[in-house]
Amino acid sequence: MSDWYQQSENEVLEKFHVTKDGHTSEMAAELLEKKGENVLEGGKKKSTLQVFLSQFADLLVIILIIAAGISMFTGNQESTLVIVAVIILNAILGTVQHKKAEKSLDSLKSLSSPTAKVMRDGQKLEIPSKDVVPGDILLLEAGDLVVADGRILNSYSLQVNESSLTGESTSVDKSEMVIEGEVPLADRVNMVYSSSLVTYGRGVVVVTGTGMETEIGKIATLMNATKEKKTPLQVSLDQFSSKLAMVIMIICGIVFALSIYRKMPILDSLMFAVALAVAAIPEALSSIVTIVQAMGTQKMAREHAIIKKLKAVESLGCVSVICSDKTGTLTQNKMTVQDVYVDGQVLRPDDIDIRNQLHRYLLYDAILTNDSTIVDGKGIGDPTEYSLVEMARKIDLREDIIRDMMPRLEEIPFDSDRKLMSTKYRLHGVPTLLTKGALDVLLDRTTRIRTSKGIRPMSDEDRKQILDQNLKFSENGLRVLAFAYREVEEDETISLESESDYIFIGLISMIDPPREESTAAVADAKRAGIRPVMITGDHKITATAIAKQIGIFEEGDLAVTGPELDAMSDEELDSKIRRISVYARVSPENKIRIVDAWQRLGHVVSMTGDGVNDAPALKKADIGVAMGITGTEVSKDAASMILTDDNFATIIKAVANGRNVYRNIKNAIQFLLSGNMAGILGVLYTSVMGLPIPFAPVHLLFINLLTDSLPAIAIGMEPAEKDLLAEAPRDPKEGILTKKFMTDILVQGALIAVVTMAAFHMGLNAGGGALASTMAFATLTSARLFHGFNCRSKHSIFRIGFRKNWYSLGAFAAGMILLNLVLFVPVLKRLFLVSALTAAQWGSIFLLAVIPTVIIQIVKIIREH
Ligand code: ATP
Repeated sequence: MSDWYQQSENEVLEKFHVTKDGHTSEMAAELLEKKGENVLEGGKKKSTLQVFLSQFADLLVIILIIAAGISMFTGNQESTLVIVAVIILNAILGTVQHKKAEKSLDSLKSLSSPTAKVMRDGQKLEIPSKDVVPGDILLLEAGDLVVADGRILNSYSLQVNESSLTGESTSVDKSEMVIEGEVPLADRVNMVYSSSLVTYGRGVVVVTGTGMETEIGKIATLMNATKEKKTPLQVSLDQFSSKLAMVIMIICGIVFALSIYRKMPILDSLMFAVALAVAAIPEALSSIVTIVQAMGTQKMAREHAIIKKLKAVESLGCVSVICSDKTGTLTQNKMTVQDVYVDGQVLRPDDIDIRNQLHRYLLYDAILTNDSTIVDGKGIGDPTEYSLVEMARKIDLREDIIRDMMPRLEEIPFDSDRKLMSTKYRLHGVPTLLTKGALDVLLDRTTRIRTSKGIRPMSDEDRKQILDQNLKFSENGLRVLAFAYREVEEDETISLESESDYIFIGLISMIDPPREESTAAVADAKRAGIRPVMITGDHKITATAIAKQIGIFEEGDLAVTGPELDAMSDEELDSKIRRISVYARVSPENKIRIVDAWQRLGHVVSMTGDGVNDAPALKKADIGVAMGITGTEVSKDAASMILTDDNFATIIKAVANGRNVYRNIKNAIQFLLSGNMAGILGVLYTSVMGLPIPFAPVHLLFINLLTDSLPAIAIGMEPAEKDLLAEAPRDPKEGILTKKFMTDILVQGALIAVVTMAAFHMGLNAGGGALASTMAFATLTSARLFHGFNCRSKHSIFRIGFRKNWYSLGAFAAGMILLNLVLFVPVLKRLFLVSALTAAQWGSIFLLAVIPTVIIQIVKIIREH
């Protein structure tokens, strides 16, 4: 059988029993069932059993197995059972948590998975790319990701970047012509391949292969696309954990040697060392970090920001510059035509008269060089273009009827680099090039002007008048489009070179009001030490007017255009960049330079983008932000965050959430490590003093895995405080484990250790080793539960209150209930090796346990004043 590229369009269509109207929905459903989803099965996931087994390859588990062995030898069967049960429970919890985290990442992924436009039952539909089946008619346009392999049926200047397959970075022109003979993939110009990007033009394609049957599917096993890299925080915690493990091993060795020297039996000495190891290893740490991050991303998704890369949650907290598009992000993207300038006069849109030939040319240009329309009263397509359709409808001119009457002969689509769009139509029997676009671009290509008196060469005076009018519109924050046309030769095919020697017709200005929440969000950003910068394709004056309205542009700031930026040296840019708050008429390359310059100055930059050419800038920025509604698939693919409401204010919310997640993680780490520190100090103290062993491994396991996890998670759920945006962004270079942080951990751990040892001595005096250990265990557990409240915030509990975080009260209550069950239920008492306590002893435990928290709270109150 010959390859698809060697067959004609009709042959391919026949093979799939399909027309250009696409499959029927029944047929598509049947094919989906038969062929499976259009997805790559890259990077196989671990099975549940594999995940479960992998939980045992952990230092703690190995130490616990040793502990279980020793317990067995010392004839303590029950303890052995508890330890084995704990190991299994720990593995089950680890597996559940792993699967949950995987699921939450998957759900985020599916939220951000690409869509495809297809014909089904003769109608254009947008469907998730996984539902695309062979034989589907795929409609491609600039900015789309190609989601399946396909044979091109029509190409309208279609250009595709196939670098992911061929390594060739320049785009390839595509056409529908049949290719004879065998050619390599890169030369199959009548085919498109999954994972390539449409960089220009439009195309209609019949899908020939989906999922693993695509060319990229064949090499997908080589790619490890689904593997999520660890975040910097996870990496630094991993490093910390392995360093900690080394230190623990050394100390354990010393403690063991010390016990042997003191002539303690070998098994008891070993138990001492094991207890120390269990006390010190922060087993809950990495799972708490994952849980808090996962919960944070879910919250952000509910608040319209989808995090694609977990790393972004951390970087968000460090963002110090936000470069944002204007149209649609800071403004509503609801364009309405305001004024029309034609024949030297400013008219209201209602005053346009279809019988006036000059007006008619303007109208034709406006609604024919235009791909927007109205379906069921709803605007479809680019809002700028839609406003022109709406304007025409107001004077009862139906664009759909006109378009049916006059077929488009050729087109050069709009792109944000060129800032023009051109089409070719036959007007009054004459082939005519109609163009609309940015005035500054179009005016340079204009040689004549059309007025009510006819066509004449454009004078300097005409030019000046047009520019003056443009300035007036722009100063009011209006977007201005210019319209021009030219007759062309019968056989002239239009190309970029054709866009010159125009006859000027007029200007149309449109209003796009700022979003209501923009002003407040800009103020929030500034309060948070973040520099908001507007980057737009629009005119400088228009952009500055809007930037002033919402507070981005302040007195003394600068506005710079793309060409002005091009003329600047890096040194000049570096010296001015802090004052530039508006970049207008920028090209996508300018965006990269702006990101680069801010990054050179040590800033963490967030950059928004929606177009196909924005992808490199989005990748370069620390946080690339794509628009969920208006953004191209290519930009979404390159971004690390997607805004489902395209709203600037959502970025600020996401930054606040990012800061909060980081702060909560840090607090949870402080809670866990300071608690462990108390345990370590307790064991060390008794070992050095030659006292009996203060905690059995089951005690420490009980605390570390049960009573400590709940407050740690509750700390991770702490809602944002008001002062979150009052601080400057965090320095990205500053690690989490700073000197101050470690000192706090040491001091707080020492406080808890002191009261725990006080309880230990009380027990020792009153009843010996067993009671001492019970009292030490109960005190350590309770003190750590109280300490959960300290770690919620740097502020005192009286300032933040209990009501803001019910989880933390719940975690405390649950921990206390668990502890008391162990202390008073006979079976558990036996299993957890605890002795009977009198009411007075219980009272002293409670009082001792509260002391560290009282001290820490007093210090916080003093610091607040
Ligand atoms: P932002 O980058 O903030 O989204 P923008 O939407 O104004 O800004 P572009 O869409 O690149 O940026 O538009 C740049 C300029 O191109 C506009 O100011 C306008 O003059 C012109 N323009 C915009 N849309 C069209 C269109 N559909 N056809 C022709 N010209 C257009």
